[in-house]
Amino acid sequence: MSVNYAAGLSPYADKGVCGLPEVFNSTEEVKAKVETLAQLIKESRYLVVHSGAGISTSVGIPDFRGPKGVWTLEEKGESPHFDTTFEDARPSLTHMALLGLQRAGYLKYLISQNVDGLHVRSGFPRDMLSELHGNMFVEECEKCGRQYVREKVIGVMGLKPTGRYCDVVRSRGLRACRGKLISTILDWEDALPDRDLNKADEASRRADLALTLGTSMQIKPSGDLPLLTKRKGGKVVIVNLQPTKHDKHAYLRIHGYVDEVMKQLMEQLGLDIPKWEGPTICESSTATSESSTDVKPLSGVTPEKKVKTDLIKEERKREATHLTEDGSVKEETVSVKRERADASVGDK
Ligand SMILES: [Zn+2]
Repeated sequence: MSVNYAAGLSPYADKGVCGLPEVFNSTEEVKAKVETLAQLIKESRYLVVHSGAGISTSVGIPDFRGPKGVWTLEEKGESPHFDTTFEDARPSLTHMALLGLQRAGYLKYLISQNVDGLHVRSGFPRDMLSELHGNMFVEECEKCGRQYVREKVIGVMGLKPTGRYCDVVRSRGLRACRGKLISTILDWEDALPDRDLNKADEASRRADLALTLGTSMQIKPSGDLPLLTKRKGGKVVIVNLQPTKHDKHAYLRIHGYVDEVMKQLMEQLGLDIPKWEGPTICESSTATSESSTDVKPLSGVTPEKKVKTDLIKEERKREATHLTEDGSVKEETVSVKRERADASVGDK
């Protein structure tokens, strides 16, 4: 499916200020400001990041109000240019750096206005993420609220039915929920998802540092959330090329490419940026290892009910056990492994 998700929305007159000229800090300015940001993050108790379309432009998904943004071009009667599909888009350096910040314990909550699904596909824990405008890969049961993360984009927008039904079974012997699944993508007049908005609101009030990346903060209420942090005595740091609606509220503004800022920031903090190994879903931040049922590659398997996932895993485990139940096979496997281990030691 084309990434032109905007074309699927209904017409809307007030799209905010579009096409403002970009501002660039000098290399030295960016470096000095990132050092300040690193210090603020080290001193913070509760860091919340707000992400916008600007963090996905480097992977070929256009933003909305940048010089080549969807709405900017629409005003000129032109069409935006797409370098990728949502399915093919890889998380940017910024997406992966945010995962690194979360794993290191600095980033406590992530609030995104992006619908491209890249935070989820990067493996960012879903219980620490609010996607305020929906996710192209997620459909939700309108009856029980269960969400399904799919491998391909849903292809329907504006909270409309997708044609599929919920298969959650509440308890043994009962029929499946069978509720209608609907798209999670908001159209202009749709209300924001309660769950995600409440969690985002709470995190913003709790935060002592709000970092906004690649958003001009013109859409309400999402764009106003960082102000809650300031109102509670916290600081707001803005990283964006164009001026934003809330520049005057910022403690620090960095006019630079988000990927460059995040790369330098991770260096300053002495943190590695995790490598991306294909679409991965992490349901819970308490999942500590790749072997957890809450973390899995997105390869045709959607995160269904947890019990179901456990069953799939159990079956796999059984297959493996079956193969090694024969003593000789087991023995052989072990000896091969040892030989390899010895060889690798010998090589050094
Ligand atoms: Zn349901």
